[in-house]
Amino acid sequence: MAAKIDWNNLGFDYIKTNANIRCRFDGKKWSQLAITDDEYIHMHIATMGLHYGIMAFEGLKAFRGVDGKVRLFRAADNARRFQSSAYKLCLEPMPTDVFVEACVRLVKENIDFVPPYESGASLYVRPLMYGSQIAIGVHRCPEVDIIFFASPVGPYFKGGMHLIKVVIDRMQDRAAPRGTGDIKAGGNYASSLLSGEKAHEMGYDNVMYLDAAQHRFIEECGAANFFGIKNGTYVTPASPSILPSVTNDSLRTLAHDMGLNVEQRPVTVEELKTFEEAGACGTAAVISPIGSIYDIDTQEYIDYGKKIGPVSLALYNALRDIQYGRAEDKHNWCIIVE
Ligand SMILES: *Cc1c(COP(=O)(O)O)cnc(C)c1O
Repeated sequence: MAAKIDWNNLGFDYIKTNANIRCRFDGKKWSQLAITDDEYIHMHIATMGLHYGIMAFEGLKAFRGVDGKVRLFRAADNARRFQSSAYKLCLEPMPTDVFVEACVRLVKENIDFVPPYESGASLYVRPLMYGSQIAIGVHRCPEVDIIFFASPVGPYFKGGMHLIKVVIDRMQDRAAPRGTGDIKAGGNYASSLLSGEKAHEMGYDNVMYLDAAQHRFIEECGAANFFGIKNGTYVTPASPSILPSVTNDSLRTLAHDMGLNVEQRPVTVEELKTFEEAGACGTAAVISPIGSIYDIDTQEYIDYGKKIGPVSLALYNALRDIQYGRAEDKHNWCIIVE
């Protein structure tokens, strides 16, 4: 089946693979990992996760390297974030070793769906959990169902990296200061969808979300973290409602390795114009360099130029080199699956 895939023209769509993995917490203990080729879940109509949004997910990738080996990137970090999501949703957290084992098993079962090195594509791994108790009342959900599935995905930027256009629009907040912004809950996506769609209709790639209390500070750039570069410093916003991106953490580490200063602190809207380079970061693209930011309300327009900044490019290459086995994995980020 995998043999039929046109590796050079993959997008970010679901493609059926050999297998997905299921695991269940029944209120007392975890089940064994179950491997299946069934793409459906048979769900009771009163499943709590469905009614009350008690669900969260993860996203990570496996890459076929220059040496032919398949590397899974920072799975233990995704496991820990999955646990913090579970904690905030009052769900049983899955132990790190079980999460990592499930991801490795999944990649092995679907090894012929890991795209060839030359394609620049990868195998996206999507773990998701939801409260699966049958109930109508709102309360802690003792039963959890977890699914791990995979899909081969193309490089985020087809035909090479390019600059994106970002809009600041205060019509919708992504997350409240003490809400669920710091976990990967599906509801955060649902609550920012409308402004994202509006931005796309207006010809922008992403919305910059501001803090919901004052609308003064930068939070997220679409479903990605924001960073700016100035005076040899990598600056990324700190806030209790930002999702801690594994990519951002990796870039901070690599920036430090390159001799840049690293600052994680509140970043105001006014500070945006002082950056030499700006970007959005996440598993999907690693870095989406930002070409311009337009503020709908103040009509201020910030232009970062027509070319990808040298620091953003160096960081991008350094991370990609580790993922594709072209550079030494100094920080032990990759698990060699096969
Ligand atoms: C997933 C996600 C990111 C990126 O996180 P990575 O671990 O780097 O993929 C950033 N912001 C939001 C809101 C997200 O959901």
